[in-house]
Amino acid sequence: MILIRIFFTEENQIDWMVPSPEGIYFDDVLEAICQASERKLVVTSFEYKDEEEDLITVRNEQDLKAMIHFCHGQAIEKLVIYPKACKNPGKRNKFGLKVAITPSKHSQGISQSDLPNRQSAMNNSMTGGNQASVVTQNAFQTDSVSASHGNIVNEMDGLSNLSLTYLETLGHGNSGVVYKVIHNKSKMHMAVKSIPIDLTGREQERIKSELKILNECNSSPQTVDFYGAYLNENRIFLCMEFMDGGSLDRYGKIPELVLKRVCRRVVSGLRFLWSKKIIHRDVKPSNILVNTKGQVKLCDFGVSRQLVNSIAKTYIGTNAYMAPERVHGLEYTIHSDIWSLGLSISEMATGSYPYPELASKIKSSRGVIPMEVLQCIVNAAPPQLPTHCFSLELVDFVRGCLQKDASSRPNPDILSLHAFVNIEMNDHEDVIIANWLSQRLSFASSKRC
Ligand code: ATP
Ligand code: MG
Repeated sequence: MILIRIFFTEENQIDWMVPSPEGIYFDDVLEAICQASERKLVVTSFEYKDEEEDLITVRNEQDLKAMIHFCHGQAIEKLVIYPKACKNPGKRNKFGLKVAITPSKHSQGISQSDLPNRQSAMNNSMTGGNQASVVTQNAFQTDSVSASHGNIVNEMDGLSNLSLTYLETLGHGNSGVVYKVIHNKSKMHMAVKSIPIDLTGREQERIKSELKILNECNSSPQTVDFYGAYLNENRIFLCMEFMDGGSLDRYGKIPELVLKRVCRRVVSGLRFLWSKKIIHRDVKPSNILVNTKGQVKLCDFGVSRQLVNSIAKTYIGTNAYMAPERVHGLEYTIHSDIWSLGLSISEMATGSYPYPELASKIKSSRGVIPMEVLQCIVNAAPPQLPTHCFSLELVDFVRGCLQKDASSRPNPDILSLHAFVNIEMNDHEDVIIANWLSQRLSFASSKRC
């Protein structure tokens, strides 16, 4: 139990009792501040004082975790936090970071089923089904830039908080939060990833030019379409295609019949990126998305070195899918992606993280991966799938990817010819994946009822 005092001014301070501080998310604190200010204040960060009375800024989950750790370490029962007032967006984004990407042909045709009920969307965001939603609604109303007119391409030029309406929160990651939104003008659903970040003008310029490569990535059916990016307050918002099946980390064990086809798509997506000299850098089940059309797409690939580096500055966690050579600090190569692919396929085949002794620790770590996971990746024998449960092709595919010596892993061409992913031309891949997904989704919704 901890008492958090929200300090607005000397005269205006609100106390908030938090029974189990370990259980709160960064967005919960923002919501509490928003409520305490009677919804007058939109904040994206706050500060507290450490033992030397220095002000420490909390901008994301990791900072929050460090704050809670500090409270426990110092046996603090009452902590004062100072909401940081938002700067005027125009002032903050003085270099005008905004990247417009031409949506591919896949996203231009908006079907009737893509059209949501605007009224319920608005109601949903106003009442806030959960705590984060209210904060988000506010976050999406702070920008004063309005959408431009014309076709979708031009509308994307006007991407801003005001041109989007918040629908729901899709998930929290290590670097930010992903929201489902509707693009007001085109009525298109989008996923928007919001990442807290502080950028200099030069960094913004670099990100701007690097993100333009995403224009080319939109031509691949195995990578999510990217619609654009903009900066608001101290956050970058990346707007991308919404995938209604979400990410594959949610589905536990995936039957081999389906996994084989998923894997083929992932390999094809990776080969596409590698052909553009882009290394993914974060291959894992939560970055492989599916939709009810049976499409499988990669997201969160490291297209912008500057963005990757800027996020890394504020992100203290490590990645449980990291290849051994990366743990040793060597450069990323496509071989590192192949290791992560092997771990991901193994996890999706069995339904749990491939180093069984560490699976529960990773689940409870909320993004900050314990040192022992990294030690295990480096020191333990690579995980293997049991031959009595899986086909020899799958076992061999994973074994090939999970070789500790990076140069022994199969190269992209060999990987794509492997028997596990070799599927006949007239195979109904989309249908098989779509059927499996719709079964899983209807099972999940019947459980909810
Ligand atoms: P990390 O921050 O390390 O990448 P992560 O991949 O779990 O971790 P996010 O990328 O922030 O976290 O994504 C959070 C969740 O949002 C994902 O797990 C996924 O379920 C959902 N999500 C992300 N992008 C989309 C999208 N384009 N369409 C639908 N759901 C998405
Ligand atoms: Mg992700």
